[in-house]
Amino acid sequence: MTQPESNGGGHVLPTPAEHLSSPRTRAVLRVQQRLLAAAREYLVGEQGCMELLPPIIGPVTDPGARGAKQVDIDYYGRTYKLMTSGILYKQAALLGFDRIVNVAPNVRLEPLETASTRRHLAEFHQLDVEIAHASRDEVMDLAEGLLKHVVRAVVDDRAAELELLSRDVAALKEVVNGGFDRRRHADVVAQVRAGGYEQSPDAEIDWHAEASVSEQAVRPFFITDYPKGSRGFYDRESETEPGVLRNFDLIVPEGYGEIASGSEREWDYRRIMTRLRETGENPAKYDWYLDMVRAGIPASAGFGIGVERLTRYLTGVDEVWQASAFPKVPGVFSA
Ligand code: AMP
Ligand code: MG
Repeated sequence: MTQPESNGGGHVLPTPAEHLSSPRTRAVLRVQQRLLAAAREYLVGEQGCMELLPPIIGPVTDPGARGAKQVDIDYYGRTYKLMTSGILYKQAALLGFDRIVNVAPNVRLEPLETASTRRHLAEFHQLDVEIAHASRDEVMDLAEGLLKHVVRAVVDDRAAELELLSRDVAALKEVVNGGFDRRRHADVVAQVRAGGYEQSPDAEIDWHAEASVSEQAVRPFFITDYPKGSRGFYDRESETEPGVLRNFDLIVPEGYGEIASGSEREWDYRRIMTRLRETGENPAKYDWYLDMVRAGIPASAGFGIGVERLTRYLTGVDEVWQASAFPKVPGVFSA
């Protein structure tokens, strides 16, 4: 009845009864519950965000989840998608409210090899934030404030759980001891390449390189300015540096890696059409979104934090599936 520490590359999961009756799982989920409450205290209570319930299905979804397959459903004879992320609806939500947050389920059929990264699920949740008229730096400040608030709440109110899980609380407390560095993608690539690793300058920092920069850090930090082509069409391109996106990832230390991605967004109809075509998307599929954009949406910036990845970091569990009550690991047939 004991929960395995590692599922050996994602291939054996405990039954729901084994998983949920484990004191470790219950401690992890109590940390997750405090995380979610703290995020709402900060975002809704202090930052004036409006919480909306996110949609789960729609005619199109985020095409930016590279390598992951989307899931089709038969919607009264039309093919609809399960959300891989709520980005299109986050932009839409700003037509009603200037500052929004939602906790959204995402389904991504990630490639089978991700079963052994310890950080990929086929179903996970994002804590999604979008702020009208904000700049990238403003939402990075918001993400930093949010993470510090969540860490303080968990360290203060879930001390017994962290002890049961043998989490190194001193390492966690480092989060609040200073500002988060901001490093450009090109500089991180140069650093990784100087260490002898062949990281492509035109792509996301790959998992191996990300793990090593994360291990070297003592505090979370941002990587900014990813190259166009590495991200979805909705991340805004710099006006002064063509080919560079006004976006960021938030990396946590101790090897846990990326927990959030965010950006300033494209809002101009013509630029969005160009970017859609550049990424090989068929604009005809996006009719509701493009009609909305043509009529006018606000400029914005926002981010999405993976709830299970953040829970894993806070609790120090080996694998991200341990941070889910009902885990779905890519390729593994579980409840
Ligand atoms: P993305 O915009 O694709 O980077 O997704 C935003 C955040 O969601 C990431 O920074 C992760 O924290 C989380 N995330 C993305 N894909 C997965 C996955 N397959 N399993 C668990 N968390 C994920
Ligand atoms: Mg990302």
